[in-house]
Amino acid sequence: MDVDERTAELAANLRDISQRIAAAAQASGRSPDDVTLIAVTKTWPAADVRRLHALGLRDVGENRDQEAAPKAAELADLDLRWHFIGQLQSNKARSVARYAHMVHSVDRASLVDALARTGTPLDICLQLSVDGDPARGGVLEADLLALAARVEAPLRLRGVMAVAPLGVEPATAFAEVRRLHELLLAHHPQATVRCIGMSDDFEAAIAQGATHVRIGSALLGSRPHAR
Ligand SMILES: *Cc1c(COP(=O)(O)O)cnc(C)c1O
Repeated sequence: MDVDERTAELAANLRDISQRIAAAAQASGRSPDDVTLIAVTKTWPAADVRRLHALGLRDVGENRDQEAAPKAAELADLDLRWHFIGQLQSNKARSVARYAHMVHSVDRASLVDALARTGTPLDICLQLSVDGDPARGGVLEADLLALAARVEAPLRLRGVMAVAPLGVEPATAFAEVRRLHELLLAHHPQATVRCIGMSDDFEAAIAQGATHVRIGSALLGSRPHAR
C-alpha cells in the first residue's frame, strides 16, 4: 500500500469512528466534544501517527515503553498528547515521564511513588479492577481511596481507566466502572476522566459516561503482531 492509500484508509476509518462516537454521545444526551478519541498506535509505525496528526488527531495511546519512547522521540516536532495505557513497571517510570502526558495504568502505591520521584507534572488515572480479580491489574475498590490520596504534586489525579474483562458484558462492566468512579469523584471532584471503551465496546462505554475512548484496530486495522 502506498503512502497516500494508507492516509486515505486512515481518514475513512477516522471519519467512521468519529461519526459513531458522535452518535453514541448524542444518544445519551452528551456532546460529541465530551468524548476524546485516543488512537492506540501500538505496533504501528511513527509514520501512521504522523498521518493521523495530519488528519487532526492529537491524542495517542501506547502500552509499551520500549516501543513508545522512540516513537515519541521521532515525533517530538508534533503537538501530540501521549497516553501511557499499558502495565508499567516502576523502573520504567523515568522513561515514560519523559514523553507521556497522562499515565492511565496506575494501580499501586509503589508506582505512584516512582512517578512522583520523576518530578514531572504527569496527569494520572487510576486503573480500576472491574471484576475484583487482582491478577489482572487494577486497583480494588477497598484500596481505591487510599491510592487516590497518595497522588500528590507534582502528579495530578485526573480520573480512572478500565478495561472490560473478557466474558463480562461491556454494559455491565462499564456500569461498575461508573459506580467506582462516582465514589472517587465524591472525594476528588476534579478527577473527571473516565477512560473506558476500545474498538469493540466504545459505544457501550460512551453510554456509561466515557470521557476518553482508546481505539486501536478499528482505526488502524488489525495489528500485525497482536498483543
Ligand atoms: C491495545 C489496547 C487498546 C486498543 O484495543 P483495540 O481493541 O485495538 O481498540 C485499548 N486499551 C488498551 C489498554 C490496550 O492495550
